[in-house]
Amino acid sequence: MTVRCRIAPSPTGPLHIGTARTALFNFLFARRHGGTFILRLEDTDVARSSVEHERDILEGLHWLGLDWDEGPAVGTLPERGAWGPYRQMERIASYREAAERLLSEGKAYECFCTPDELAADRAAQEAAREAPRYVGRCAGLTAERRAALRAEGRKPVVRFRIGEGKVAFDDIVRGRVEIETSALGGDLVILRSDGTPLYHFTVVVDDAAMAISHVIRGEDHLSNTPKHILLFRALGVEVPAFAHLPLILNPDRTKMSKRKSQTAVAAYRAEGFIREGIVNHLALLGWSSGSDDEVFAVEELIERFDLARVQSSGAVFDRERLEWLNGQWIRRLPEAELVERLLPVLAEQLGARIAAGVPGRVPATEDLVPLLPLIRERIGRLGEAGDVMGFFFLDEPIADPALLVPKRWDAATTAEGLRVARGILAVPDPVAFEAEPIESALRAAAETHGWKAGDLFMALRVAATGRTATPPLFDTLVALGRDRTLARIDAALEVLR
Ligand code: GLU
Repeated sequence: MTVRCRIAPSPTGPLHIGTARTALFNFLFARRHGGTFILRLEDTDVARSSVEHERDILEGLHWLGLDWDEGPAVGTLPERGAWGPYRQMERIASYREAAERLLSEGKAYECFCTPDELAADRAAQEAAREAPRYVGRCAGLTAERRAALRAEGRKPVVRFRIGEGKVAFDDIVRGRVEIETSALGGDLVILRSDGTPLYHFTVVVDDAAMAISHVIRGEDHLSNTPKHILLFRALGVEVPAFAHLPLILNPDRTKMSKRKSQTAVAAYRAEGFIREGIVNHLALLGWSSGSDDEVFAVEELIERFDLARVQSSGAVFDRERLEWLNGQWIRRLPEAELVERLLPVLAEQLGARIAAGVPGRVPATEDLVPLLPLIRERIGRLGEAGDVMGFFFLDEPIADPALLVPKRWDAATTAEGLRVARGILAVPDPVAFEAEPIESALRAAAETHGWKAGDLFMALRVAATGRTATPPLFDTLVALGRDRTLARIDAALEVLR
């Protein structure tokens, strides 16, 4: 089987989670079968298409690692593939040609109906409680009549003859689908009167021209497919196989929409979701591996992917699962890779605090490497890095003295506890500045003073980091270093005065 499949986004909005999922399934299917993954931009809706959206879509797919074998250029990559160009606006001539062919073969005809006539038809159908459809007024015009209408100044659209009977196909996901052509709305406009082509036509002409073997797309296109099949047949080309992917749903099982969910891939990226986590999550939106495993690298997905295991019922987009998977992937990233991804995030987040007057510095690679074991498990998204580890690099003043005082303690006890801790931490000998000796010396001191060790540790934690939740305390102090730990205890004692 020669697999050629495609993602065909319209650049009328930023890269949507649904488009990314469709792209991923096409990509996995192509890779699984040694096929070709094609990207084509359906940009004929000139009014709603924009260069910014196009860039967002191309860069987003590229960022996710869903690289296309054939398709338009992104960034510094050149356009590739022998079936180009891959933007429909650059293929306009081919649609006109195909329409001419259908006209000359009598499979399409010119329709001169005015908007008023069509509106009257629709009103009559509504009154009779019939489904709206083109009545076929121009289906049998003679050449003379056409010439006369043209002479009146009317400009025709081109309609494709839908014909009678049934269209049936076996969808790989949904099984047998059958529909009466009478339900398709009548003969279909394929070219507007200004000669511009419509979606149903361009998609089929291109899929035919690009020798697409499998059309894998969202279920929202299922009702279009019968029209497309009729067009493929009329063009005299082989009809591709179809697989319609289940809708992506909000947690309340309504169709995922901008209003209820965050749908732009770029917004997830900005929050610090990483491509491995997003791709893993997208793969599970409608597909299951057939095992209990949930964490899959893209190579594993390629190995296991099978359209037969795509479900037909809607797939709920579960942000919690995405966060969990993302955390799993942050833990699995090679050290150097994680550092490389954290650096720009920290530069931005800490840079903003520094610009706002907080003393501190932006970390470099060598600062982060020793901290990774402390923070890796605590970061679910890169965007949490500033919060989880910013205190290593920023000397944020303690905003609220009450934060320093553990629940069972008062300010005086807290100050006393911190002074005792300071005394222990300040002496280079016999207590080395290492996690275990620090811990046992502090535990012993707590016991001597009749304190709960947890209270002492909490006071020290907040004094040293400004936070009540941190990586393991003693490792954190060691990473901060003796001098900075002492300086922060001193600052905390100032605040408590
Ligand atoms: N341009 C269409 C869309 O954005 C793609 C249609 C298809 O995949 O056939 O939904």
